[in-house]
Amino acid sequence: MASPADLVIAGNILTVDPRRPTAEALAVTDGRIVAIGTRDDVQPWIGADTEVREAGGCVLPAFVEAHGHPLMEAVVLGGRMVDIRPVTMPDAADVVAAIHAEVAVCGADGAYLNGWDPLLQQGLPELTLAWLDEAAPNGPLVIVHNSGHKAYFNSAAARAAGLTRDTPDPHGAKYGRDANGELDGTAIETGAVFPLVTGVMTPTDYPGLLLAECARLNRAGLTTCSEMAFDPMFRPVLEQMRDRLTVRLRTYEMSTADLHTDASPENGDDMVRQAGIKIWVDGSPWVGNIDLTFPYLDTDATRTIGVVPGSCGHANYTREQLAEIVNNFFPQGWQMACHVHGDHGVDTILDIYEDALRRWPREDHRLRLEHVGAITPAQLQRAHDLGVTCSVFVDQIHYWGDVIVDGLFGPEKGDVWMPAGSAVATGMRISLHNDPPVTPEEPLRNIGVAATRVAPSGRVLAPQERLTVEQAIRAQTIDAAWQLFSDDAVGSLEVGKYADLVVLSADPRSVAPEAVADLDVLATYLAGQQVFAKSD
Ligand SMILES: [Zn+2]
Repeated sequence: MASPADLVIAGNILTVDPRRPTAEALAVTDGRIVAIGTRDDVQPWIGADTEVREAGGCVLPAFVEAHGHPLMEAVVLGGRMVDIRPVTMPDAADVVAAIHAEVAVCGADGAYLNGWDPLLQQGLPELTLAWLDEAAPNGPLVIVHNSGHKAYFNSAAARAAGLTRDTPDPHGAKYGRDANGELDGTAIETGAVFPLVTGVMTPTDYPGLLLAECARLNRAGLTTCSEMAFDPMFRPVLEQMRDRLTVRLRTYEMSTADLHTDASPENGDDMVRQAGIKIWVDGSPWVGNIDLTFPYLDTDATRTIGVVPGSCGHANYTREQLAEIVNNFFPQGWQMACHVHGDHGVDTILDIYEDALRRWPREDHRLRLEHVGAITPAQLQRAHDLGVTCSVFVDQIHYWGDVIVDGLFGPEKGDVWMPAGSAVATGMRISLHNDPPVTPEEPLRNIGVAATRVAPSGRVLAPQERLTVEQAIRAQTIDAAWQLFSDDAVGSLEVGKYADLVVLSADPRSVAPEAVADLDVLATYLAGQQVFAKSD
C-alpha cells in the first residue's frame, strides 16, 4: 500500500512525457512526484494529512529558460538602473527624457540606464561623447544597449571605471577610440560593457534583488533558468542563497583570456549547478556585428546603427581564439554554449566543435549554439549530425520581425530568421528562450510566436518554419531541460522528477496559437511548494 503523499494535484495535466501525455492527478512526497495517472491511480496516495488541490485550467511542467541572464536582470530591473527597454519605453522622446531625469536625480552618483534600441525607438539621437558629456557634466552616465552587446558612457563614467586611453581592449571586446586614440564613449561586447556597470550593484542589496528576480521568473511560470554570462564573482552569493532561491539556476561561466575556471564539471546539485562554459562567435544583429556570408541591407535602419554599406558584419573572436577556448574546456568534460547569429560564424564554430569531437569523442555532449538567427537548413543538419543542439530566439520575430526583413536583411534572408521548423525537422531537440532582460521572460509568448511567426505589423515570416504548439511546449520544457543536463530532474511530469509545475488558465493546445501568449499563469510550484499564485 502506498504511504500517504504530502500533496495531490488533480486536473487537466499535460505531462510532456510521450509514454503518458495526459493525466488526471499526481501525488507529491518530499518535493518529488510519486504517482501520476488517473484519479483512481492516485487515490491510494491520499491519506488523512494529504493536501488535495483541484487545479483549474491546465497543469504543465514548469517552464525552463534555457538561455537567460537572471543574475544580470536582477540588477538591471532592480531599481538602481532605469529600464528604458523598448518593451517598457517604445517612444524615443520618453527615452531621452528618462536619461535627463535620471541624471538630474543621481548627479555625481551616476545615472545608469538599460535598454537603448534605435531600431525600435525610432528618432533617438546619436550618442556621441559630446552628447553624453553635455547631458551629464557632473557625474557618470552609462546607457546600455538593449542587446547588452554595446554601451555608451561619458567621461565621468570612464574615470569612475578607471578607463583611459591606455586601457587594453578586453578579450573579444573593445572600447571605441577616436582618431587620436582617445576613448570615444562606446563599449562593444560584454567584456567591455560589464566594467562600466559593476558599480551599480552593492553586495548587501544583491540577495534581495536576486529573490525579486526569482519571483519575476516564477510569475512567468519558470522554475529553472540558465545564467548564460556567469561571472564567478557571484559564486559566494549563490552558495549563501541556495536554500532561499525559488528558481533552479544553471550557470555558464564566461570564458576569459586566462582559460581558467575554479569549478569542475562535477559540481552543485539540482538547485544550483554550473552547467558549462559560454563562448561568443559574434555580436548582435541590432548592433551590426553578426558574422554573415551576405551583406546587411543599406537602409535608414542600418545607417542608424552605423553599418557600413556592403558590410557582412564580423566575428568578435578569431577561429584560433575560439578553438583555443573549446580545446581547453571541452576535454575537461565541460559542455560549451556558443553565441552565434551569422551563418558564417555558424560554419566556424561547427568546424571547431567537429574537430574537438574528433579529438576527444564524447557520448551525449549536448554542445550548444545560441540564438542562431541566420543559421541555414544545411547547417542545422550538420549540427544535428554532430549531436549539436540549438537554442532558438524566436521571440525576436515578435519585436523585430519587420525590422529584420525591411531594415536589415531583406525578405530572402529575413523571412527565414530563427528557422525553428527546419531545426526540428532534422530531429534536433531545441529550446526556445527569451534571453531576459533582452526580451521579458515570456515562455507562453515564445510558444505562440514559434507557432505563428507573426511580426509586429501582422505579417507572417516563413510559415514553413512554424512549430506546432506541442513542439513548442517541448522546446520550453523537457528539451530545454535536456539542454541544461537537467531532464533527469525536471522538464516533464513523471514519477521520480520534482513537482515543478505551472497551472495555466487553459490548455495551450485548445486555444488558437495567437492566443497562447495571453494565457494566464495561475500558479507555479517548485518541488511541490507553491512559489507563485495569481491574485485576482
Ligand atoms: Zn544571452
